[in-house]
Parts: sequence; C-alpha cells; structure tokens
Amino acid sequence: MRVITLRIAADESYRAQAGWEHTLRQTVRTVSDIYERQFQIRLEIGDIVPWTSGQDGFDPRRALDRLISQVPNGADVLVGFSYKKCVQLKRGLGLSFGDTAFVMTGCPRTPWSVEAADAILSHELGHLLGAFHVPAGTRSVMAVAGGAADDFDSQTTRVIQLMRLRDFRQGVAGIDAEMRKHWRSIYAEGHAEREANPLATALRNAGLDHERRGALDAASASYREALDVDPSLARPHADLGRILAAQGRLDDAAKDLRRSIELDSLTPGAYSDLGLVLARMGRADEAIEALREALRIEPVDLRSRLLLAHLLAEQGKADQAISEARFAARTHPQVAEAHLHLGLLLTHGGQTDQAVAALRQASSLAPGHAGARVALVRTFYLGGRYRDAWTEVERARSAGQSIPAHLLRDLAARMPEPGK
Ligand SMILES: [Zn+2]
Repeated sequence: MRVITLRIAADESYRAQAGWEHTLRQTVRTVSDIYERQFQIRLEIGDIVPWTSGQDGFDPRRALDRLISQVPNGADVLVGFSYKKCVQLKRGLGLSFGDTAFVMTGCPRTPWSVEAADAILSHELGHLLGAFHVPAGTRSVMAVAGGAADDFDSQTTRVIQLMRLRDFRQGVAGIDAEMRKHWRSIYAEGHAEREANPLATALRNAGLDHERRGALDAASASYREALDVDPSLARPHADLGRILAAQGRLDDAAKDLRRSIELDSLTPGAYSDLGLVLARMGRADEAIEALREALRIEPVDLRSRLLLAHLLAEQGKADQAISEARFAARTHPQVAEAHLHLGLLLTHGGQTDQAVAALRQASSLAPGHAGARVALVRTFYLGGRYRDAWTEVERARSAGQSIPAHLLRDLAARMPEPGK
C-alpha cells in the first residue's frame, strides 16, 4: 500500500460553509477509497490549515501561486480548497508531476457536494501522478470536460500505476529515465489536443526553479531534458539561450535564441536577449534588427529600448537615438535609469540644457546613484557651465559620492575650484 499524506489548506470561503471540516474529510475519504481500490494508494490527512485566497481565489492559476507562497508543504502533497466561484471553466488545478493542487467546490457546475469535489480532487491528484487530459470522447476522470471520480480509462490507469510510488519531494527529477520512457510511450498513444507535453513543461519549470536559485548548469540540464521530450517547444530554447548568454557563450546563445524564434516568433524575451547577445558580439546591425522586433512585440521593454538607443548613437544616428531614449523615459517616468540614459545621449548630442533636465530627474529619482551626478558634472563641463559643474561637485561630495579624478582635473584646468 502506498500512503500519500496531504496537508489540506481551506480558504476563507470554504471555512465559511457550515460543517466544512466534516465535508472536507468525507471528500478525501471518498477519493482515498477509490484510489485504494484502483491503485493501492491511500490518502491520509496530515493536517488541515487555514489560508486566505482573497481576490486570487477566483482564478485557479493565481490561487495556486498564492497557496504555494502562503502555505509551506509539510506533507507529500498540499491541496488548497475553496468555495469561490470560477471565472473560467477550470474548477481546479494540479501541476503535472508537481506536489500542489487547488480544488474549487463552489463553481456553478459543482454545487456544494461531496460528489462534485471528489471528481475534482481525483482529477487533480491524477495530474500530480503524471496523468494527462485524455483524447476528446474518452470517458474518464481525466477528460477535459470532467468525469466521475472513479472513471479511469486505460491510459490514466497505466500512468498512475507507473507513478504510484513517486517521491513528491524530489519533484520531476525523481522520475528516472526508465519511467520517463514508459510515460512517453503511453502519452504517445494520444492525449487532448493543443496541450503542451506535461512532462516537458514540468522539466522546464524545474529548470526555472534552478535558475532562480542561481544553479545555471542544473537549469541548462533541465531545459535540455525538456527539449529531449519535446523538441518543438520554443521556450526552453529561449531559456537555454538566456543562460548561455549569461555564461558568455554568445555563439551558442544566439543559435538557441534564433531556434526559439523560428519555432514561435512571439516567445517572450527571445528577440530582446538575441539583440543583447548580438550587440555583445559586435554585430550592431543585426542587433538593431532584433531589438526592433522585440519592441514591436513588447513596446515597453526598457532594456531593449535603451540598448537600441545606444547602438543607434554609436552609428552616429543621434536624433534617432534620442527619440528612442525619450520614448523610454516617457513610458518609464519613475525609472531613474531611463532618464539617465536620455541625459547621456542628449549630452552626447550637444543638447546641454535638455540633458541637465533629464539628469536632474534621474538624480531626484535615485539620489544615492552616483552615475547621474557624475553625468551632470560632465554635462556642465562640456557645455562650458563650469560654475554649475563645481556646484554639482560640491553636492556629490556632501552626498559621499566621488567624481573621477580626470574629470576634476579637466574642470580645474578651465576654472579653478571656487574658494580654493
Ligand atoms: Zn486537468
């Protein structure tokens, strides 16, 4: 017998229903009995804890994210229960090969009843054990349209039998090559259309987790495993490109980013990262082309906009550069970086007064940032406003910011420091 312990989290709407705890235990017992009969798996409640889904409780995806951030999983599996109404057809969510699920029992199609909740719990538990949505027309608890809690088709039965001993705490990494191969052969028999391969998705998510923790090699390995399962996925190519770029392997990075764009030209971040990589490789024309594509898809992408502005400036196209930087400052009025870059480009273009306004804006948004202050001193110096330059030097000193020695020397050669 496999025993899976559950930590149950009941949200505020669920706890507001009369007799909720009794209903909850009954739901879990019903599903446990079904899984025991079918798979020799028993569900045991470790504990029941409260949580607050708030406004996120209406949307399964956001509710699940909120649940994960609010409640640590102290068991094999964490399941959140809610009585909130659905904003979409989905009545629950369980991450494939994951350890967390969310069950909505108050949706119009599922009035407060054990029978409705047990079908959802049975379905989401299936996902955690690697089961996927079965082809349209198949009668199953894993049908997209839903099914009875104890309706297991042949594919679902074999997948759950295959994964029944899986260690939830190890994540998708705990599913070895032999199990993956077996799972893939069952999946290849058929599945709901237009759904990303759940094993590939789980592997990519594992990669994102590694990347967040700074483990870039482990992240790369996960992305490659995801592509091994489904080579047609665009995002893991873009993910790999991003990591290769961070590791300084620019040629390889460009290849993966281009492949990602070939597969899906709208892959988030792919054009932007490609632009950055090409710029670092000194291929300015191609970089500009990629950045323009990135900005066509995502006009408020600040990093791409500023990089484009600088590449244009390097090519002597000062007016175009300044107009890109102005756009950046307009769309990101609260970001010091945007005003700083606009100021630098205006200084470069000889427009001292406008540069001063932009740099003052940058400085007031980020008073601790020495870059804007240094740029101001330099702009006054280049514009022949030496007294203003010295005033700014004084402000920098009282803020504990240092001005480069060569700039002070050049300035002193034009006008000695007042009072010295
Ligand atoms: Zn599902």
